[in-house]
Amino acid sequence: MFRRILQTFKYSIFPSKCLACGLFFHPNQDRPAGKTPFDRIVHDPIETIFYRVMTPFLCPSCAQEFSPVHSPFCTTCGRMFKSKSGADHQCGSCIQNKTLCHRIRAAGIYCGPLKSNIHALKYKNKVHLARPLGRLLFSSFMKYYDISTIDYILPVPLHISRLKKRGFNQAVMLINEWPVLINLSNVNRKINTDRFMHIDCKNLVRKRKTLSQTGLGKEKRKENVKGAFAVTDKSKISGKQVLLIDDVHTTGSTCDECADTLIASGAKTVSVLTLARAD
Ligand SMILES: [Zn+2]
Ligand SMILES: [Zn+2]
Repeated sequence: MFRRILQTFKYSIFPSKCLACGLFFHPNQDRPAGKTPFDRIVHDPIETIFYRVMTPFLCPSCAQEFSPVHSPFCTTCGRMFKSKSGADHQCGSCIQNKTLCHRIRAAGIYCGPLKSNIHALKYKNKVHLARPLGRLLFSSFMKYYDISTIDYILPVPLHISRLKKRGFNQAVMLINEWPVLINLSNVNRKINTDRFMHIDCKNLVRKRKTLSQTGLGKEKRKENVKGAFAVTDKSKISGKQVLLIDDVHTTGSTCDECADTLIASGAKTVSVLTLARAD
């Protein structure tokens, strides 16, 4: 209670700067915490979580630009269909081509405030955003995955040189709080076996330095990451249903290459969860 009063006092004197448009706003005055902007009716639980966790960082007008991934989408690659109605189903491309990643999901589309926040985290060192964005990602995990089908969680690794330059791996930061969230949500207890979801940030490594994928076409992206990953302890991967975590899914080249390495190391299945997807 006292903390909330202090926060209200702080916000009334020191406005926040919106991470998307740069304008100053008063989070508590412009929008009570947890409320959606302009009292919009929100049907998607991910949209509700987005407003709840991003309230301190976005003005109401930018917050409402968030685009969650919505049905109908492909049950394999997760790409949304143009039609706004109908059930989720496999797209033509996934039916024709055998895919390495069997379930790709994302919280939202890589645009607007989600894109601004991911950029701020990765390139402007706004590491405090990892916690709310990690919670958004966890909500997507709970929404899209049957918890009994995942038993090993791995972030997409950075090469040591990039890790040193940036100082952190955003994919690792996003799941830092997950062990606590998993405990709070009793996820492991719901699994009726002795299997536990294991988070491992070290077993998958990027052994070769690669160029940034930004600006590269699909084929160049594939070439760029070919043979770039390795598993250090295959015994931990063998027979596991793996979930790969990353911030953005663009063409899927990085995740496909990771999946290729993981399956060659004995993984049973590889799924992918990202904060955002390009389409
Ligand atoms: Zn704004
Ligand atoms: Zn598909």
